[in-house]
Amino acid sequence: MKKTGKCFCCCEHKILTKEHIIPQSLGGKLSAWIYCKECNDKFGDEIDAELTNKFRYFSTSLKIDRDRGKNQHQPFNVYFPKKNIELTSNGSELKRKKPVVEIIKEGDKVVFASVIARSAKELDRIILGLKEKHSLTHEFDTKNETIPGPIEVEREFVFDNSLIRRAVSKIAYNLICIKIPEKYVFSPSFDEIRSYIRFGAEKDMASANFRNTSFMVDNIRPLHKIHISFNRPKKLVIGFICLFGIFRYTILLSKDINIVIDLADLDYTFDPTTGKEICTKPNFIAPEIGIDDTLRPKHSKELVLRELKKGHKILENYIEGHQNIEIEHTE
Ligand SMILES: [Zn+2]
Repeated sequence: MKKTGKCFCCCEHKILTKEHIIPQSLGGKLSAWIYCKECNDKFGDEIDAELTNKFRYFSTSLKIDRDRGKNQHQPFNVYFPKKNIELTSNGSELKRKKPVVEIIKEGDKVVFASVIARSAKELDRIILGLKEKHSLTHEFDTKNETIPGPIEVEREFVFDNSLIRRAVSKIAYNLICIKIPEKYVFSPSFDEIRSYIRFGAEKDMASANFRNTSFMVDNIRPLHKIHISFNRPKKLVIGFICLFGIFRYTILLSKDINIVIDLADLDYTFDPTTGKEICTKPNFIAPEIGIDDTLRPKHSKELVLRELKKGHKILENYIEGHQNIEIEHTE
């Protein structure tokens, strides 16, 4: 079935395609017909691809399935400094990227052979090959190599750059598209953010923000959260995005909104490990922040590191125990 309508990004009347409010690669399930194919394709190749790549470690470690196709656990590589080797992970274990075979010869004679394989089967196969090729009669000594789990390896995460800022801006804007009346969404108040999501801008309209955003996490579950806050007196619309219960961003969605009615804040919280929406407190209110706090948050490096560490802990619990913890909100 083809659906036509006004694209919420280029604002042209076209055939619309399905857009996931939170990208599928991050586990998002909720979708809506809001963008035309051209816009959707452009976003997919540019900004969504960046999110997918930069957060692959999390999607894979948490075994987040995509709707399309099977075996979507994208392997990712990590560097293991202790041994100076590249490892590859399928989400639950790390392995060397390839086997290592080392041979020392004196003349035609092999005097030393060492094989590091990734499985007993591979080891047998390589040893057999070596014995045949070099007519070796000695037995090989074997020992098991210990490789750290996926979360013990040192990693540097890129969670903030211009493409990621545009991608999280789109996530926030997506929720606006499906939750507030069309006439407001298509009003010039949102022209700037539309243009930013489509083309970028000299000045970013979003920022990683670990200040004013702790309301977005429970420090237990790797939840995604979208929160939109309408500040009618100041004409501001601020978006808050949290990914995997760790990475938090604020977005200046509009600074000149003209709405005659009071719009309640929007909140969408989603558990990518269960694929289910989480109900939040109905009387829940985000802190009121201004443009400066949104785009240039004063968070110290220590604060960011501390928050990232907490996030790492969440992931650790999920990978080892992998239990779904139900939490009740009590006040
Ligand atoms: Zn479009």
